[in-house]
Amino acid sequence: MRILVTGGAGYIGSVVVERLLGAGHDAVVYDNLSQGHREAVLPGAEFIQGEILDRPAVEGVLRKHKIEGVIHMAASALVGESCENPAKYYSNNLITSLTLLEAMRATGVSRLVLSSTAAVYGEPEKPLIEESDPTRPTNPYGETKLSFERACRWYEQAYGLRFVSLRYFNAAGATKLCGEFHNPETHLIPIILQVAAGQRPHVEIFGDDYPTTDGTCIRDYIHVSDLAHAHVLALDYLKRSSGIFNLGCGGGRSVKEVIAAARKVTGREIAVRVGPRRPGDPAVLVASSEKIKKEMGWVPEKQDLEIIVASAWEWMQKKAVVSPAR
Ligand code: UDP
Repeated sequence: MRILVTGGAGYIGSVVVERLLGAGHDAVVYDNLSQGHREAVLPGAEFIQGEILDRPAVEGVLRKHKIEGVIHMAASALVGESCENPAKYYSNNLITSLTLLEAMRATGVSRLVLSSTAAVYGEPEKPLIEESDPTRPTNPYGETKLSFERACRWYEQAYGLRFVSLRYFNAAGATKLCGEFHNPETHLIPIILQVAAGQRPHVEIFGDDYPTTDGTCIRDYIHVSDLAHAHVLALDYLKRSSGIFNLGCGGGRSVKEVIAAARKVTGREIAVRVGPRRPGDPAVLVASSEKIKKEMGWVPEKQDLEIIVASAWEWMQKKAVVSPAR
């Protein structure tokens, strides 16, 4: 299929494009490079720099490239920032996405895979979150993603949109070609590895007084390559139906456990300080991914936390050699 990938120059987007090309699809990346990197777009994909809010431009791209489906990943995705600046999240995650939907409607493109998030659930009521569980976001990031999922349901009913929403848990790790680079970096695993590499003095643990085994937050870390594979499967699924799916590995790891895994992988001391809780952070977010396994045949291949951390470490060292300035 010919797929438009919004946000395809970002961390997860670049790996999704890698998977799409590997599966024989054509990929057109549409990205404003506000967070993504031009060099993250693999040579096999076409790149167009643009804003989604520029609806005529998006419609032009959909028509010109005879796009058959859209994978929409362009978004702002930081829990803490969303609490400080909700306006940015309503604009970047909701208004932008609704503009994209309208451009798709105007051009007759009816298949959409969208990046959603575990943050739609808020504080879960049970250890493994299922898609049918209550959605009560504790931050504007989750709220805006949930609002867009709901819009897609109404567009399905009224206009025949087919959509698959993938509720990402914590994507991490790297492939040989693509990996994570945010500036500033806010995510746990790259920050820990920056400490291991001597680029930061210490990692701050955001709260150790949560009601968890060691007091630190528990998350479900999923290798970015497994996560990307689900997008390729979702394109097939869209031929049959719409749906909402969790995308995690079903295993919760605490912040302290991630630090321990990184110490083992890197063989380096990683200095730690305990700070206050980060606003908007639920104590535990772990997915039941049974639905996507059953309905799409998705199987994670790299569940082991040390494998995930090792791939990110390898990527980081490679980047340091290739482009020391970045
Ligand atoms: N975290 C932390 N220190 C950091 C960054 C993150 O303790 O410097 C914690 C954060 O509170 C959360 C977990 O690590 O419980 C994962 O955070 P991240 O920002 O990587 O992903 P999120 O869960 O927000 O999507």
